[in-house]
Amino acid sequence: MPAEAILEVRDLAKLYPLTQGIVFKRQVGSVRAVDTVSFDLARGETLGIVGESGCGKSTVAKTLVHLEEPTAGTIRYKGEDITRLSGKALKAVRRNIQMVFQDPYTSLNPRMTVGDIIGEPYEIHPEVAPKGDRRRKVQDLLDVVGLNPEYINRYPHQFSGGQRQRIGIARGLALNPEIIICDEPVSALDVSVQAQVINLMEKLQQEFDLSYVFIAHDLSVVRHISDRVAVMYLGRFAEIGTDTQIYEHPTHPYTQALLSAVPVPDPTARDHRERILLAGDVPSPANPPSGCRFRTRCWKAQPKCAAEVPLLAVPEWLRGEGPSAHPSACHFAAERGVVPAEEPES
Ligand code: ADP
Ligand code: MG
Repeated sequence: MPAEAILEVRDLAKLYPLTQGIVFKRQVGSVRAVDTVSFDLARGETLGIVGESGCGKSTVAKTLVHLEEPTAGTIRYKGEDITRLSGKALKAVRRNIQMVFQDPYTSLNPRMTVGDIIGEPYEIHPEVAPKGDRRRKVQDLLDVVGLNPEYINRYPHQFSGGQRQRIGIARGLALNPEIIICDEPVSALDVSVQAQVINLMEKLQQEFDLSYVFIAHDLSVVRHISDRVAVMYLGRFAEIGTDTQIYEHPTHPYTQALLSAVPVPDPTARDHRERILLAGDVPSPANPPSGCRFRTRCWKAQPKCAAEVPLLAVPEWLRGEGPSAHPSACHFAAERGVVPAEEPES
């Protein structure tokens, strides 16, 4: 991917205080919602982020659009450190990095017309569309997302789920952003509608030269739209790679387990595949396991996994070895059935 990085995220972390008591709140610990997450987003690229509920996906999204301040780490936008901006500088950056939310049923104010919802960003950024121009701009946006411009005076309840998400997307586009952070934009929609909304987002990406971070809890949802995919577990990236690397050559046991649970329509392919069942539930992010956070559910776990945090890096014995060579945060990363040439002892 030779394109320039439009977003560079390094060692991003977000801790939420864990409090006890109702009247006199005492901090009794912290929830490590996101812990040292790093990635680049290239211009025009879509990075999928996938993981089970509660693993920190929305927290990553919120820090990227400044809805939450990270506890540690840096976010660079076109080379500029935007992690702790405020005032005018923050406003200028915010315009270029927009978010589309998960639930089109609750994220749209039911008392506002569609025109007011989509045009709301212009109240904060009037320079993008002068007052006299706004109605026409909003109608253009409705048209762009495949809705009838005559619907401008309707209310959210008059639309279906898929149409409401189109309205959310239109609002995300209102300020001509360069990056859109899409936090599970299709998770609340019927499967039959999901593909239509994803197709629309791909079309818009081409048309407006957008870069996407596209979050989902299911690997199959992001496959089609993503150039690269990151698999997240308990606040960290387990593995990151191109779609071929992640779907055809996963080396992290967690990714392998997630993929083994995805239904395969082709019965012959199904026969050749082993189901991996994960033991137990995701541990609490307030008290994550030592070393590798996945080790309590991993069939490959060894004493080393409890003692040492595995770094997200290309495994030594896979370096330069074709499609498998991509970063994986596992001490024993390997394709299933492939035995590492030598035991990775450090
Ligand atoms: P996901 O989007 O992957 O489901 P989230 O980012 O929403 O995960 O949450 C990650 C973890 O952080 C969860 O354990 C969640 O309970 C916790 N969390 C999220 N927001 C807050 C908050 N405002 N205060 C305390 N804990 C939070
Ligand atoms: Mg979420």
